[in-house]
Amino acid sequence: AGPLVTSRSTSIAAKKGLLIRNRTQFESAWKVDRIVFDKTGTLTEGNFGVTDIHPSNGVSEEELLKLAYSVETQSDHPIAKGIVKEGKERNIESYNVTDYKNLTGKGLTANVNGSEIAVISPGAMRANKISFDEKTYEKLAQQGKTVVFVLKDNVLQGMIALADIIRESSYTVIKELNDLGIETVMMTGDNSRVANYVGEKLGISKVIAEVLPHEKSNNVKHLKQGGKKVAMIGDGINDAPALAEADLGIAIGAGTDVAIETADVVLVNSNPVDILNIIKLSKASRRKMV
Ligand code: ADP
Ligand code: MG
Repeated sequence: AGPLVTSRSTSIAAKKGLLIRNRTQFESAWKVDRIVFDKTGTLTEGNFGVTDIHPSNGVSEEELLKLAYSVETQSDHPIAKGIVKEGKERNIESYNVTDYKNLTGKGLTANVNGSEIAVISPGAMRANKISFDEKTYEKLAQQGKTVVFVLKDNVLQGMIALADIIRESSYTVIKELNDLGIETVMMTGDNSRVANYVGEKLGISKVIAEVLPHEKSNNVKHLKQGGKKVAMIGDGINDAPALAEADLGIAIGAGTDVAIETADVVLVNSNPVDILNIIKLSKASRRKMV
């Protein structure tokens, strides 16, 4: 195949919403046995909205949201964006925030008026043995909502629930991959209740939840064991090492630069359904070569 063939297949790929960064990996896509999906921003829109605010210990709803809003202005995580959006809509004024620290995959902390404010995950609450209203939490988690906890000097101020929307096209892509006999896996840093909720709705075979960012690539390595060919699709900075570890790394076009630069193929329209085109095109180019 000469350059003419290459440029023709490149333009076909472009029409199918694909930007090919590594042709060799792309052409091997027909061999893929498993596809690992990131959840937030990949299978879901990554657009969180606040749905429930439950203060504790006599804190007002406004004060709880104000604390969370103030520290989350320092982060660009999808959860942070959802809380900031809510704070802005309610015209809440931010406290002065210093000493911001990102607890990667667990939340964040910052100093507000001499107190340490933390916004953290249920997993981080359990790891720190801080108790909370399990009943309320369970109810929210069962609805597929992501819950974060707000602490002031380790005293619980309350919980905030957020919901994201599953992309319509995620249903199609999971169903078609299942029909093709390709195993579907979801890997996320979010808690297992939410992860299982989304996984069951979509019909995903295997759900791996509460994965810390540095564990993502190791999980892909495990999934490759026994000679399985694994593709990974994600959008975040924390997905990049896993995209590099996979036999085929695929990035969401609207994702972070690091993910895009690490990927073999970029989904230009940010539509996960386009990975079906990767498989179809690589099967077609294989037939032409043999
Ligand atoms: P994902 O795999 O969905 O991209 P992350 O690894 O980024 O998830 O985050 C995992 C969990 O850490 C989140 O579900 C949340 O509970 C917590 N977390 C991360 N960043 C923040 C933040 N800015 N505010 C509150 N919680 C956060
Ligand atoms: Mg993501």
